[in-house]
Amino acid sequence: MAAKTKELVEALECAYCFGTEMEMTQPRRLPCGHVYCLKCIEDDVAANKIMQCPKCRQVDAIAD
Ligand SMILES: [Zn+2]
Ligand SMILES: [Zn+2]
Repeated sequence: MAAKTKELVEALECAYCFGTEMEMTQPRRLPCGHVYCLKCIEDDVAANKIMQCPKCRQVDAIAD
């Protein structure tokens, strides 16, 4: 159970700013299930022209 709880916490933590989902003003869940701040995602997309999950490396299309 402890391992499962740790996984859950990691999944809800922004890999960019290390804020937790509760600290995010605009948390956004990617199709892979990981959650990041909307602003952190936008900054990453602006810099790299692609949305790649920094945790699992899954590439997701950003549709606005
Ligand atoms: Zn963030
Ligand atoms: Zn992911």
